[in-house]
Amino acid sequence: MGKGKEQDTRFARFGVVSFTAVTKVNDFIGYLQEGKLMGTRCKRCGKLFFPPRADCFECLSSDMEWFEVKGRGKLLSFAKLSYAPVGFEKVLPYTLGLLDFGDFKVFGWVSKDIPEEELEVGMEMVPRVVRLEGDRLLYEFVKAS
Ligand SMILES: [Zn+2]
Repeated sequence: MGKGKEQDTRFARFGVVSFTAVTKVNDFIGYLQEGKLMGTRCKRCGKLFFPPRADCFECLSSDMEWFEVKGRGKLLSFAKLSYAPVGFEKVLPYTLGLLDFGDFKVFGWVSKDIPEEELEVGMEMVPRVVRLEGDRLLYEFVKAS
C-alpha cells in the first residue's frame, strides 16, 4: 500500500464491503460497469485470483493481468443469511453462494429470482452483473441456461 490519501472512489459503488479497501484493483468496477466480472491472473506463474488481487501470493509477483470470469461454475455451497453488513438491511434475507470454476472460485450473491428450494450443491450457475439503486453495482449468480 502506498502512502498518501489518494482514494479511487469507484470501489465505494460496489456493494460488497470487503472490496472497499482495495485500491489497486479499481478497474474491477470499471469492468463491472461494462457488465464484465473480472479476476486477475499472475503473468509469472499463471495463478488466477478472484476477487482480483494486485499481487500474487504464490510467487510474489505484481505483474498481473485481467481475465473475464466466463462460463458456468458449479455451486459448491450456499447459505441463507439473516444478517447483513450496514447498508444491506433492506435486502434481507439473501443467499450467498460459492461457485467453482475449476481454477478459481467466486463468492457472491445468489439471485433472488431463484426459489430457495431449487438451489442445490452441484448445480451450474453463471454470474451476472446487476445495478442496484443509487447506481451501485453488484454481481449475482443465476442458473445456467
Ligand atoms: Zn504468481
